Amino acid sequence: MPLASRRRLRDTEWGSALPDRLAPAVHLEPAGSGTVAPPPEGPVRATQLHIVTYRNDPADAEITSHRLMARAGYIHKISAGLYVYGPLLWRTLGKIKAIVREELSRVGGQEVQLPIMQDQALWERSGRWEVYQASRTMLTTTDRRATTFGLAPTAEEVVTDYADATVKSYKQLPLSLYQIHTKFRDEIRPRFGLMRVKEFIMKDAYSFDIDEAGLDASYEAYRKAYVRIFQRCGLEAFGVDADPGDIGGSGSMEFMVAADAGEDAILIEEGGDYAANVEKASSRIEPSPSQGEAPRPMRRESTPNIRTVAQLEGFFPEISADRMVKTVLCRAVHIDREVPWAVLIRGDQDVNEVKLRNHTGGLSIEMLTDADIVKLTGAQPGFAGPVDLPEAFSVVADESVRGMANVLCGANETDVHLLDVNLGRDCPMPEFADVRTARVGEAGPRTGAPLVERRGIEVGHIFKLGTKYSAAMGASFAGPNGKPTPFVMGCYGIGVSRVAAAAVEQQSDDRGIVWPIPIAPFEVVVAPLKVQDDAQRGAAEGLYTELAAAGVDVLLDDRKMGAGAKMKDCELMGFSIMVVVGRGLAASGTVEVRNRTTGDEKVELPLADVVTSVVEMVHAGRRGLLPKG
Ligand code: ATP
Ligand code: MG
Repeated sequence: MPLASRRRLRDTEWGSALPDRLAPAVHLEPAGSGTVAPPPEGPVRATQLHIVTYRNDPADAEITSHRLMARAGYIHKISAGLYVYGPLLWRTLGKIKAIVREELSRVGGQEVQLPIMQDQALWERSGRWEVYQASRTMLTTTDRRATTFGLAPTAEEVVTDYADATVKSYKQLPLSLYQIHTKFRDEIRPRFGLMRVKEFIMKDAYSFDIDEAGLDASYEAYRKAYVRIFQRCGLEAFGVDADPGDIGGSGSMEFMVAADAGEDAILIEEGGDYAANVEKASSRIEPSPSQGEAPRPMRRESTPNIRTVAQLEGFFPEISADRMVKTVLCRAVHIDREVPWAVLIRGDQDVNEVKLRNHTGGLSIEMLTDADIVKLTGAQPGFAGPVDLPEAFSVVADESVRGMANVLCGANETDVHLLDVNLGRDCPMPEFADVRTARVGEAGPRTGAPLVERRGIEVGHIFKLGTKYSAAMGASFAGPNGKPTPFVMGCYGIGVSRVAAAAVEQQSDDRGIVWPIPIAPFEVVVAPLKVQDDAQRGAAEGLYTELAAAGVDVLLDDRKMGAGAKMKDCELMGFSIMVVVGRGLAASGTVEVRNRTTGDEKVELPLADVVTSVVEMVHAGRRGLLPKG
């Protein structure tokens, strides 16, 4: 609704009849830091809104948000991972974007728009063209001149090129740019409705600083802005240590919304402040009982068909798994080559593929096939070990192996194991790294409290890039000494469309979506149950006008339809504050007010009290989960 007509509405007698405190919503919050602005949207009549609801769940819907958003007409599938965003979703996305814009401009972010089509040559300058081609994440297209373009999965290259061309001097820094724009990723498995799609809306921001200290400040400002953004959206999100993935860089933090349907596993220190994606999490484990033992001479043992740690424990009952060293054979796949790796890890522990991939610098890790193992080690699978390992293998030992003495391991000979092996004596001392998967129940790295697991939906991700892109692409500015200096960069993403889905995943009931007020397509629905009834219709119109005049984003459900069906529709669509004008009006002059965000509280109020009460509810809801005060 255009602003002009809202202003007009505020001047009506409905508006002026309100006490000052409740008059236009712009006054709902005091000015200053912490201000929560009223939504820019205005009142709408349902008869003028494209409402589409379905009784049944779509066949491919596995999770709540997918189910409910499809049934309530928020999304319409065109093909795998590609959706039409209906008018209701568009309103919700508009509100999320407005919150993002406000919070980013508070930390100095300037909104821009970068092209979606990004030429291959530009991506070759950072070295990422081949990376994204190898993972097949980037969709590509060609123009009439046969120039190849990638469709932006992210935009570091373009924005770095822009900064290089337009920032001449350190005096123009720091610079912080962001856009809210479509991103494309050819996901292996698009699924879960808006959660994992091929085309989605991302807010991507990029900071440019003179030095690391500048980057630290920018990163911290964004981190704080993210906390406020998610709180204002009404989302319970928390930051976790994360793996930087293909974007790269030194430090990174993901923002997760806790939800059973989340695709990420997060390990959290009970009562502590450590939380990390399982891809990145570390833990403390009890040292091996073999630590500190005096070395014994190495022995060979025949172990016919004994291949696994469990089988070895059965075969050597006196040797526990934490006295064994497993040798995991795999290959790191690089753009131009494949490198076989032998990973040594304590028998009772598991290798973390993401940590290992980062250690090797490869694009991905693949397990060796049985045939490859035989070819490369000369032994059947299950008998590999560090002693006399063929030179083709690069070797890394997990930290869990450090200090172990007299270990049991494979002999690189079928049906043979070695006992009392000592690394550094019987074979070269390997390089050590943390490539182990931390597990629930182990001691957390910060306070030592046990780790617990939660599932999460990644709604945002911030990265310290440092000079990764600026150095690769030769992007620099003249520093205080006049010398060309590479930009020190950070980048910051929010999955705007995924945020909407995460909100639904976080809160719904058996009737439908329950939007947090700040991102609900409408803050309030006024629903006369029988539109043909003049009294009901008149009262509803009055409430609608009055609420609109108070700056509330209100929908009047003026559709002519059965009362039951109308209630079902409104519940499904997730209007959290419902003003239901029904039989109570004629019987006792009352109207029902429901607040579905607070456990579906229902009150019957005299008509004259409704606006005051609803405006108060809206007022309370608009802050989302911002801390009080
Ligand atoms: P994921 O691990 O879920 O694949 P990512 O780590 O690849 O995500 P980033 O590169 O960090 O994603 O992108 C920034 C944000 O964009 C993510 O935090 C997420 O909210 C959102 N996002 C990423 N991929 C998708 C997708 N396929 N569909 C919808 N949103 C996405
Ligand atoms: Mg991420």
